[in-house]
Amino acid sequence: MKFVDEFRNAQLGRALAGEILAELQPGRHYKVMEVCGGHTHSIYKYGIDDLLPDNVELVHGPGCPVCVIPMGRVDDGIAVARHEGVIFTCFGDMLRVPGSEYTLLDAKAQGADVRMVYSPLDALRIARENPDREVVFFAIGFETTAPSTALTLKRAKTENVANFSCVCNHVTIVPPLRALLESPDLRLDGFIGPGHVCTVVGARPFEFIPLDYGRPVVISGFEPLDILQSIHMILRQLSAGRCEVENQYTRVVPREGNLNALRVMSEVFELRPHFEWRGLGFISQSALKLSDAYADFDAERRFDVPGVRVADPKACQCGEVLKGVIKPWECKVFGTACTPEHAIGTCMVSPEGACAAYYNFGRFARERTAV
Ligand code: SF4
Repeated sequence: MKFVDEFRNAQLGRALAGEILAELQPGRHYKVMEVCGGHTHSIYKYGIDDLLPDNVELVHGPGCPVCVIPMGRVDDGIAVARHEGVIFTCFGDMLRVPGSEYTLLDAKAQGADVRMVYSPLDALRIARENPDREVVFFAIGFETTAPSTALTLKRAKTENVANFSCVCNHVTIVPPLRALLESPDLRLDGFIGPGHVCTVVGARPFEFIPLDYGRPVVISGFEPLDILQSIHMILRQLSAGRCEVENQYTRVVPREGNLNALRVMSEVFELRPHFEWRGLGFISQSALKLSDAYADFDAERRFDVPGVRVADPKACQCGEVLKGVIKPWECKVFGTACTPEHAIGTCMVSPEGACAAYYNFGRFARERTAV
């Protein structure tokens, strides 16, 4: 398949691994963060880290949309789902994210009408088909998925679908990255930039990383050779003493992003003053809410939601995993009390979560064997 097979060529992968080795300075340890959960998934699915020298360490970032949803927001969703007459819709991953007591799947088992959808447009269709019910879409994701929610809301407004509304949990990637770079816990040498987000926002929003923090960023695709080439480009910048935003994913990411998507987002959404991130706490201006022009479609204004902050369970170390401070297998409950079937934390729920990636692709067995 074009743009897939040629980016999975094992021979080219080994050649790139050799070029990576040639860029390394003796005695130096390199820490590179892949921001996006999609990269984490590819890295472990294809064993990319096995091709890297021991002194090139990949650190997993906060870019998995499901992983960053705090317990309180899940509780808010469950509270809305339990309202009489509500059909509550969300993506499949969201169903298994633990709230303080229950998941949305538990709420469904207890009688709430919770349905999985593949897109917000599916939720809008359900609203049209059920004019006597209130249909709510639980929107999650970074700038990658926010445009599809925005377009759906625009359509709902144009068609005057009055029984449709949205709990907006869309988040933005730059503020948590800035928070991580300010963190004294973490020393990073460079970033593999989030290719999917950049298809919408472009490369420009990441220029603060080299300018303010002196770290290179390479926006990367998601196939194995994309990621290996991006690591090579980061190391090449470091060995040449350069520091800039480069775009490895030129076949998809335009430098200015998708201007139509950005325009629709700015029409439908506005920034929240602050938003709680799972394990990272409150981060200013890091999430979106519906603008006043779309207030009628805002489920948080239409329904009572508890809006209560809930502390993560003591055993859960998702925050440290999301900040790249620990590896998933270093969490005390990894693979024992916390598994994909019975997740305690969010990083074990979505395939893009670092814990699920380690668990599903054999890291669990390998790390335990090594111990
Ligand atoms: S193993 Fe479970 S609780 Fe621990 S960090 Fe991963 S998802 Fe969170």
